[in-house]
Parts: sequence; structure tokens; C-alpha cells
Amino acid sequence: MTDTLSPLSRDAMQQELLSVVKSVKGQVLNAQNLYVAVDWKKPATPPPKTTALPARQDRQTFEELRREVAGCTQCALAKTRKNVVFGDGNLSARIVFVGEAPGADEDEQGLPFVGRAGQLLTNIIKAMGLERKDVYICNILKCRPPGNRNPQPDEIRLCEPYLKRQLQLIAPQIICALGSFAAKTLLKTETPITALRGRFQTYAGIKLMPTYHPAYLLRNPSAKKQVWEDVQLIMKEIETGERS
Ligand code: URA
Repeated sequence: MTDTLSPLSRDAMQQELLSVVKSVKGQVLNAQNLYVAVDWKKPATPPPKTTALPARQDRQTFEELRREVAGCTQCALAKTRKNVVFGDGNLSARIVFVGEAPGADEDEQGLPFVGRAGQLLTNIIKAMGLERKDVYICNILKCRPPGNRNPQPDEIRLCEPYLKRQLQLIAPQIICALGSFAAKTLLKTETPITALRGRFQTYAGIKLMPTYHPAYLLRNPSAKKQVWEDVQLIMKEIETGERS
């Protein structure tokens, strides 16, 4: 057969053929990609076998606990509080600081140790070479006693299980009990803080260091020296010890 096409139109036809081939090839590849994306026949990858709970599940459990505490109405403090002060910080912390109860600033903001005593605690944490985000901070009571009065025995009894579960979930290496109320409540003792501080005690298998409350240090700055000694013991234990 005689080629009647001019070289120009043959060239144009070849170009067109090439572009049709390219377009078909692109569509086939797209279809293959889509097929992979919606391949429901592939069996789901089984979860890895492990005996330890993944950290995410721990956090979900912590969230559940936080929600439960946020709605707590077990004692009369629920009627006078502005906010529940559950706790704040790192859920994988090696150190948990436990104070007494929220004050006015904490009640206002829903966060622990954010007032003047809190500023001092932040400075103590910094002097330990840490930041607040490295530790966890909470209290024996999650709601403010009106007028900053002392926590009452029935309030402690009803609120303590929340703290117990927080400590179980975080499982820190060390608990630092700030002040007489925290130390006596956790250790179930009537021994005064002056006699308890400076020596490690044990709470549920976790080392616990009782020391003076930052609010006490604001009134008695000379006691800062002893708190500094106590936190140095904590730092030494953190460096050498292990989580139990
Ligand atoms: N004092 C406490 O014991 N806890 C706080 O959160 C603030 C002040």
C-alpha cells in the first residue's frame, strides 16, 4: 500500500497515538492504586503479643479516672468548688509531688500549685534540674476546702482512693509528700513531719520522701535548707535506683 500521508501528518498521528498510550497506562496504574487502597480481602495485621499494657491504654484509663473525678459529688466540697484540681504533669514521671489541697488560685485555674506556694515548688523542681513537665503534681484532696481550712477526715477518706489510683497508674520511682497532711495521710501515721522528713519511707512499695510544704517555707524560709537536703536525696535515688 502506498503511503499517501505527508510526513507532517504521519508525525502528528504518531504523537497522538503516543499520548493515547500514556493516558491509558496512567488510568491502569490509578486503578491498581485504588484497588490496593480498598483491598478489604487482606487479613488485618494481628496486634503484637505483649504482656505489658501499651502506654496509650494507660493514658485512656487515666482519662477515665480524670472524668470520674471531674464529676465527683461524694463530699460537700463539690458544692463550693469552682474547679476540680485533678493533677498535672507527666504521666510517665519518675517523681510525683503530693500536696494537701487546692487553694484559691488552684480552684480558679483547675491546676495544682499555681499560687505563691506553687511558684516556690516550681523553683524547687528547677533547682533539681527538672521542669514541671517532667514530674507529676497532685494533692490529697481534689477540691478546695472553703477558706483554706484543713482537710477533714471524711473528705480525706472519700478522696484518697482517687490519689491511690493516680499513683498506681503513674507508678513513679519516688513520691515526695509535701507537708504534714500529705505525709501523714499516705503513711497512715501521726508522727510529725519534723520527725518524718529527710528519710525515705515506703508507700505501696514506692519510696516516699516526706518534706516540708512550700507554704511552710514561705513562712519559715530557714527550712529551705532541709528541703534542699531532702530533694538532693531524691535526686540521688533517681540517678541510682530503679522503679519498683
Ligand atoms: N497547696 C497545696 O497543698 N496544693 C496546692 O495545689 C496548692 C497549695
